[in-house]
Amino acid sequence: MGRRKRRKIVRKVRRSLPKFFKCPRCGIDSVRVIKREEGGERRYIVVCGSCGLRAEYSGDVLLGREPIDLYNMFVDAFYRGELS
Ligand SMILES: [Zn+2]
Repeated sequence: MGRRKRRKIVRKVRRSLPKFFKCPRCGIDSVRVIKREEGGERRYIVVCGSCGLRAEYSGDVLLGREPIDLYNMFVDAFYRGELS
């Protein structure tokens, strides 16, 4: 009955979405959209924890977009062959 103790990861990075999306390359639900703020600039990194497929978005392209939109852009970019 006892719950497994989860390892606590204490980090200063604020988590935005602990939500996983499906990777267009490997098909596993391990794509995360990570928000980063550095020097006042916001950046989003979309990365698959399984195969390592990744893209970064920053600047005007982020205006009015939700993380899900960035995921969609990531998938589109993959199918256009823009991601390695
Ligand atoms: Zn993948």
